[in-house]
Amino acid sequence: MTLKINNVTKQFGKFTAVDNLSLEIPEGQIFGFLGANGAGKTTTFRMILGLLDVTKGSITWNGDTIGYKDSDAIGYLPEERGLYPKLKVKDQIIYLGKLRGMDKKQVLTELQGWLEKFKVPDYLDKKVEELSKGNQQKIQFISAVIHRPKLLILDEPFSGLDPVNVEMLKKAVVDLKNQGTSIVFSSHRMEHVEELCEYLCIMQKGSPVVHGSLKEIKRSFGKKNLFIHTDFNTEFLKRQSGVVQYKETFEGCQLQIESEAISQAIFQELQGKGFVRKFALEEPSLNDIFIEKAGASYE
Ligand code: ATP
Repeated sequence: MTLKINNVTKQFGKFTAVDNLSLEIPEGQIFGFLGANGAGKTTTFRMILGLLDVTKGSITWNGDTIGYKDSDAIGYLPEERGLYPKLKVKDQIIYLGKLRGMDKKQVLTELQGWLEKFKVPDYLDKKVEELSKGNQQKIQFISAVIHRPKLLILDEPFSGLDPVNVEMLKKAVVDLKNQGTSIVFSSHRMEHVEELCEYLCIMQKGSPVVHGSLKEIKRSFGKKNLFIHTDFNTEFLKRQSGVVQYKETFEGCQLQIESEAISQAIFQELQGKGFVRKFALEEPSLNDIFIEKAGASYE
């Protein structure tokens, strides 16, 4: 059940929104799709769903070209949310479930399970317009998963949610993954991707600039972060060779260094200068990698 994007290009007139993209979304994994605004994420999702035609290339699911025949196996949470405000939650989800080939009883059983999971069991008979934005998003999420899709595409699923609801939705996503659902999600929040995804792709202007497993991406980036807390001034480290970036922090400093080996020279430099409370070498964050590779400043 692998989703393969093979040399896909999408042009809108002369503008290339997706440029010769090739990706393989591993089965039963959560795949993170990152990129600055306008990088081509939503366009790629729409092509996977068959809402937009590819200009060149192909998208296959299980070896076959993906199309409307697969829509019962796919769930989609679009970036622009689209529920009917005047309809009751129950009626809305029953309608969508029926479109996916379910009967009313099946939908209601699933829906009640989800509402309980999301701690809103009394929402069945509420109109969508009566719900807060965050709670509407939970209903929208349920509408994407009600038919137990094998492939779930989530366009910024956590935007606009409070921290408690973010955790609730994250847990739902992880549970679905553990039940065997393949999930692709886009996000501008690096910490969400870092926490959830084993594999990811960073897009820039329609092409992937980084692609692969998170561990491997971090390892091959080479640069590391060094956190130092001291009772003396460490500004002299700015001029130390191999130090790419120096930031003062409340308790000391944070350095980005070219490679692990540089940390040893820095360790030597600190000797005899005073008390060192912390000296910690850490992997680069996804945010560091994103900023360097996609060249944008991020929240
Ligand atoms: P965001 O993070 O802002 O949601 P994105 O990565 O999802 O961005 P897309 O929505 O895929 O980006 O857009 C990619 C590019 O394609 C943008 O420059 C956008 O203006 C352009 N684009 C998207 N849809 C169309 C369209 N229907 N007609 C013309 N240009 C389009």
